[in-house]
Amino acid sequence: MSVNARQETLNFQAEVKQLLHLVVHSLYSNKEIFLRELISNASDASDKLRFEALSDPALYEKDSELKIQVSFDEKAGTITVSDNGIGMNRDEVIANLGTIAKSGTREFLANLTGDQKKDAHLIGQFGVGFYSAFIVADKVTVITRRAGLTPEHGVQWESNGAGEYTISNVEKKSRGTDVILHVKPDQKDFLNDWRLRSIIMKYSDHINIPIMMPKYDPDKKEEKSSEWEKVNRAVALWTLPKNTIKDEQYKELYKHISHDFEDPLLWSHNQAEGSNLDYISLLYIPSHAPFDLWQREHQRGLKLYVQRVFIMDQVEQFLPFYLRFVRGIVDTTALPLNISREILQDNPVIPKLRAALIKRTLDMLEKLAKDDAQKYQTFWNQFGTVMKEGPAEDFVNRERLAKLLRFATTATNMPEQTVSLEDYVKRMKPEQKKIYFITADSFNAAKSSPHLEIFRKNNIEVLLLSDRIDEWLVGHLPEFAGKPLHSIAKGDVDLNDIESKKDQEEQKQKEEKFKTEFDAVIKQVKTILGDKVKDVRLSHRLTLSPSCLVADENDMGAQLQRLLKAAGQAVAEVKPIFELNPEHDLVKKLQLEKDQNQFQEWTYLLFEQALLAEGGQLQDPAAFVQRVNRLLLEK
Ligand code: ADP
Repeated sequence: MSVNARQETLNFQAEVKQLLHLVVHSLYSNKEIFLRELISNASDASDKLRFEALSDPALYEKDSELKIQVSFDEKAGTITVSDNGIGMNRDEVIANLGTIAKSGTREFLANLTGDQKKDAHLIGQFGVGFYSAFIVADKVTVITRRAGLTPEHGVQWESNGAGEYTISNVEKKSRGTDVILHVKPDQKDFLNDWRLRSIIMKYSDHINIPIMMPKYDPDKKEEKSSEWEKVNRAVALWTLPKNTIKDEQYKELYKHISHDFEDPLLWSHNQAEGSNLDYISLLYIPSHAPFDLWQREHQRGLKLYVQRVFIMDQVEQFLPFYLRFVRGIVDTTALPLNISREILQDNPVIPKLRAALIKRTLDMLEKLAKDDAQKYQTFWNQFGTVMKEGPAEDFVNRERLAKLLRFATTATNMPEQTVSLEDYVKRMKPEQKKIYFITADSFNAAKSSPHLEIFRKNNIEVLLLSDRIDEWLVGHLPEFAGKPLHSIAKGDVDLNDIESKKDQEEQKQKEEKFKTEFDAVIKQVKTILGDKVKDVRLSHRLTLSPSCLVADENDMGAQLQRLLKAAGQAVAEVKPIFELNPEHDLVKKLQLEKDQNQFQEWTYLLFEQALLAEGGQLQDPAAFVQRVNRLLLEK
C-alpha cells in the first residue's frame, strides 16, 4: 500500500463540532492547559501499553523505555507532543478523535448557556482532553501507529477544528503517537523553552513517566535535538512520603485521573504498606457532582495499579455504588500483575480492599464534617442525595452513614439540608421518644403540610424530606441512636410523646366533648365518602387546617405510593384515613349544615383540599373548581 493511500475527508460528529466551538471560545483564559491535557493522554497511552505488554512483551518492539517528548520549532511554528505508548489504528483514530462516546453528551451540551464564563466552568466538568489543542492551534496533525502493527499501518489525522478532518495511511517507524500543533499566529509566545518547561512543571510534574525536552541552546536560540533532558520528577506521586508532596501536586494528579478541570474538594492519602493488606490509596472527593452522576453508564471506580504498574481504570468493585463519586488510585502488591477484569470479581483480596477503602472514605468525610462544617456542607449539597443511598446498600456501615446525613427540618425551615441526626437528637424534648419526619414531593409541600401543625405548636422538630430517595432512605433507617424514625403522616399522633401533662388533660376533656358533638357528622361524612377512605375520624394533629389525610400505621405512605406508581410499579390501592379538625370554623359550619346537598358539597371540598395539600391529584379537578366557585358565591 502506498503512503497516503486511502485518504478520506470525514465530518466530525455534531457533538464534537459543538464542543470544539465551545473550547475555542470559552477556554481562552486558561490556554496553557492544552499541554497538560495532551501529556495526560500520552501518559494514559503509555499506561495502556505497559499493561498490554504484561501478557504480550513483543508489543515493546525492543523499546521498553516509556517516555513523553515535548519539543517546539520556532520557524515552523509548531509544538510536538510525542509518546511511545499504545498508539491507535485507523478505526480507533476515527472513533477517538472524531466522536465523543460519553453518554449524556447531548444533554450536557444542551445545558450550556452561551455565557462564556459559565460555559468554561461547565466544560471543565465535562473534560475536553484532546480537543483543547485547538485553543492554541489552528491546525492539528496526529501521526500514530498502534503497538504491534507494522510501520506501514501508521495513520495521519489532520484538522483545522472547523467541521471536518482528513485521515490517511502513512508510514510510521516507531509505535505511539505524535501530536503536532500548528500554533495560531497570536499564540506564538508558547514557542518558548522556558514557557513550556514551566507549564510542564506546574501541571504535569506528577506524571510517572519521564517528560523530556531537548536541551536549549541560548546562543543559537534553538533546541539541541540530540540532547534530551527530563523535566518532571517522573515518580508515582502516591509512593512518595506524604510530607514531601505539595497540595498543588495532589490537585494536578486529581485532574489527570479524573479528567476534571476543577480542584478536588479534599483527598485522603494512605500508605498501608507492610501491614497484612499491603496497599496505597489516594482517594479524592470532587468539588462538584459530574454532569453524568445520575446516568446509568456514569463512569465510576478507581484506577488500579499493581506494584506501580497501571492495570486498569474504573475498577468498580473497590467501592459501593453510593460512593460512586469518589475518584482515585489504589496501588497494591496483594493482587497478581496478570489480574483481569473478569477474575477480579472472585479474588478474595477484593472484599478486604473494599472494606478498607470504604473505611478510608468514611473516615475522610467524618473528619471533614468535624473540622470544617462549611466545606462538608458543600460536599453534602453536591453528593448528599447519593450518600442517602448508603444505609440501604451498606448495612455494615449504617450507623456511621446515618451520622453523615443532613436534612432540612422545621428548626431551620430552609430547603438547604444542614441538620444532622445528632443535632436533632440533642434538641429532642425530654418526653420525646421518636425522630419525626414527613415526606413530600417538594420542600414547600413538606414545609406547609397540615400534619406539622401540632408539632409546630408544641415546638417539636420534624425532618422535612423531599428528595426522591428519602422514602427509600427512611425505609432502611428504622432508628438512630435508639430512637425510631416515625412518619407524622401515618397512624395516630401519640400525644404522650409530645405534649405536657397539663395540655394532655385539657385535650382529653375537649376530645370527649367533641366526640359526642361530632358523632353524627363523622357518620354522615363516612357515608358520603364511602370507599374513597378507610376511615373518618376527628383529628388531634391539626390546629390551622380543617382536614387532612393520614395513612394507617402499617400502610404505605402516599408519597411512596406516588413514587412507585411513577416508576411504573403496580401498587395495591391503599385508602387514606380522613381526619377533621373540630375546632376549625369550616368543620363547625359543616356540623350546623342542615341541607343534605350542601353538607355533601362541603364534605367533598374538605376531602379534596386535604388531598391537594398532600400533593395528591384530584380525580376531577374541574368539578373541584366549580364546587369552590359555587360555595364562594353563596350568601
Ligand atoms: P479522554 O482522554 O477524556 O478519553 P480525549 O478527547 O482526550 O478524551 O481523547 C479521546 C481518546 O483518544 C482517548 O480516550 C484515547 O483513547 C485516544 N487518545 C488520545 N490521545 C492519545 C494518545 N496520545 N495515544 C493513544 N490514544 C490517544
